[in-house]
Formats: sequence, structure tokens, C-alpha cells
Amino acid sequence: MAVNEKDVEAIVKQILTQMGGGAMNSASPVSSGAAPFTSLSNMAGAAPIPATAHVAMLVEKERFEVKEFPIPPVGDGDILVKVEGCGVCGTDAHEFKRDPFNLIPVALGHEGTGEIVKMGKNVRKDSAGKDLHVGDKVVTCMIFKDDPDITMFDLNKQNVGDSDVYGLLPDDDVHLNGWFSDYILIREGSTVFNVSDLDLDSRILIEPSAVLVHAVERAKTTGILRFNSRVAVQGCGPIGLLCIAVLRTMGVENITAVDGNEQRLAFAKRLGANQTVNFNDHKGIEALTAAVKVSFDGHLADFAFQCTGNPMAHANIYKFIRNGGGLCELGFFVNGGDATINPHFDLCSKEINLVGSWVYTLRDYGTTFDFLKRAKGIGLPVTELITHKFPLNEINEALKTNLAMTGLKIAVVNS
Ligand SMILES: [Zn+2]
Repeated sequence: MAVNEKDVEAIVKQILTQMGGGAMNSASPVSSGAAPFTSLSNMAGAAPIPATAHVAMLVEKERFEVKEFPIPPVGDGDILVKVEGCGVCGTDAHEFKRDPFNLIPVALGHEGTGEIVKMGKNVRKDSAGKDLHVGDKVVTCMIFKDDPDITMFDLNKQNVGDSDVYGLLPDDDVHLNGWFSDYILIREGSTVFNVSDLDLDSRILIEPSAVLVHAVERAKTTGILRFNSRVAVQGCGPIGLLCIAVLRTMGVENITAVDGNEQRLAFAKRLGANQTVNFNDHKGIEALTAAVKVSFDGHLADFAFQCTGNPMAHANIYKFIRNGGGLCELGFFVNGGDATINPHFDLCSKEINLVGSWVYTLRDYGTTFDFLKRAKGIGLPVTELITHKFPLNEINEALKTNLAMTGLKIAVVNS
């Protein structure tokens, strides 16, 4: 936790200032020029909306600067959200390090959530038809709302990628375009969901969880994944760990987690893996395969999920799967290079049912909200995936922590 005493001090000071606001105003009318608040939200007791927002702008590679911009007028179809927190995604880390999307200067952060503080008069319902009110907690989604089954693959094919991907939008004169900020302006027509019934940490995990809900849906299309399937999950980063949790919440019990880090493997067990295999304990693919087999009482896996971005791991995983079994490859969110397999031995003669998975559909989002509630209900410590929290002004540190891969999920959280 990186929220230090100084921040606590600042919060207390701010609260005291707000509490004393009325009395102070009557003593000295709004003449100080630098009046911090332009308007009050229409909800009784809600915090006033400040005149400016703080936005973490990536101004050059490996450097964010927290900039202050005026909060623009909220249009009839717009929603102004006070940001509570936002997860750091691998995509943010790529952009931070190398600017592959050529977006600098850019307001990053797409795994964010916060509270509606102001809405245009035309805003009534979220993208699922649920009512929206000031005070509701929301998330955005980068998949469009007009087709619930559209995938990222379809979007790329149609070449319509720049609609409302908050956190990956080119900078404009609104500037409040990313969730690494204290306020974000959700423009008319964007995909937005009311998730007031989820706690903050669960809400921060919605976007990455949706990736796994989608992967499991892809896996189910093979017809192989059943309650009693033996399932191997290779890679226990946030994606692999969430994969285990999703499988567990749907009733899959016989899960073997494969990774090289004991700490992560221990967490995999708490999230629902029955057995773990540390690949460092087994030299060579034959020994590793034997270990996976031992974990399933002498059987190979019926189904495997490949959750690392390592081409060698992709090449190896076929060995863990029985003849006629299934594989879902979801580790290569970005190009991680080529993998070498033997098409005869690995795919054809084993009759492997292979599916790839990338991002999610809008329909998966709804399922994800339910997954997070169910996971909590059966006591899976999913929110412990968030190992580090940084305040907005330490965002550079947050990104560096993500790149150092010392934690699991890193989040930027406003107090
Ligand atoms: Zn993401």
C-alpha cells in the first residue's frame, strides 16, 4: 500500500475545509477569485464538483505528469464521473514503455471505476438497460453496445477501433479521457455499466476478469469442458489466477496450476486450484508432463488454458493434454513471437480441439459482474489479486511496479 500519511493528512484537511465551508462562505463571500468549486451536484450531501480535474498524462515514454484541466460542461448525453480507482493493464505498461500505439500525449487507464457526480438530462439508463443516477458506481467498456456479441476481432476487421476506448483515446480539448485521473467525462453514446452492487476492488478487476469469462466461453465451444474435467492452467499471473477463479465459480474442481513461482502457486490454490506444479522442480518437458500427470492421478489434462506470453510455454502445453482434449490459448494479448510445434504429434494425431481467445464481448461483461459476486459468495479471495495501490501522483511508480512484475495487479486509487 502506497497511500502514505501525507495523503491521509490531506484528506482530513480537505474534509475539514468542506465541513467548515458554509461558515467560511458566510464570513467571506465568494470573492477570493480562486474559488475551488464552481457548482454543487444535485444530490443532497454529495461532494461538490471542483472546477478542475487532475489527469495523469503520459507526456513522454516512461513519464506521466499529473496535469490540471478545467472540468468541461456536461452535455445532455454525458456523464461526469469522480474516479475512485483504475487497474494498471499490460496495455498501459506497453504504452508507457514504448508508445506502440503512437498516442503520446495520452491520458491512459481503461480499467477504471468511479461514482457519477453529474449527468446530462438525456441520460437515463446504462448499456444493459439499468437505471443510472447520480451516486451510482460505473465502469466503461471498450466494446460497443449495439451488438452484444461483437468481439475485438470483429472491431479490428471492421476497422472501427476508436469509438470510446477511454484510456486509449488520442488527446483532445476535453482531456478527461482516461481513468488515471480524478474525474473522467463519459461522452454520449459510450458503453457504460451501473455496477453499484460491487465493491471497489471487484470493480477494478472487471475488465481483466471479462477476458477470462470470454476465454472460458471460448473453451466451452469445444464441448470438452465439464464439471469433472481435469483442467491444467499454465501461468499464474493475474490472467491465469483469474482463469482458475472463473473455472472454480462455475463448478470445475480438478484444476492443476503450473507456474515457476511458489507464492503465485500458493495463491492459485486459494483461488481454486487443487494441485500445483512448479516447473522449476522438473527439468525438461518429459519430466514436467509427468508431474502434470501425477497431479491428475496418472491422467493427462482433458483441457488446458495457456495463460503465459511465452512461445515456449505454448509449444509445451500440448504435451499436457490427452488425445481428443482441448486447449484455449489466451496468453498472447500482443505479439510475443513465434512458437514451434509439431503439427503431427501435437495437433493432428492427438485430435486436439484448439481455440484462441482475445479480449471479450459486451455479453461477457454482464457475466463478469455475476462471476465477481459469485466468487465473493463462495469465499474466493479474488480481490487480493490487487497487491499494490498507489495514489494518482505516484503513477510513474505504479507503472514501474507493473513492469518489474513484483506484484500481481497494480492499481491507482484516489482517496
Ligand atoms: Zn486491460
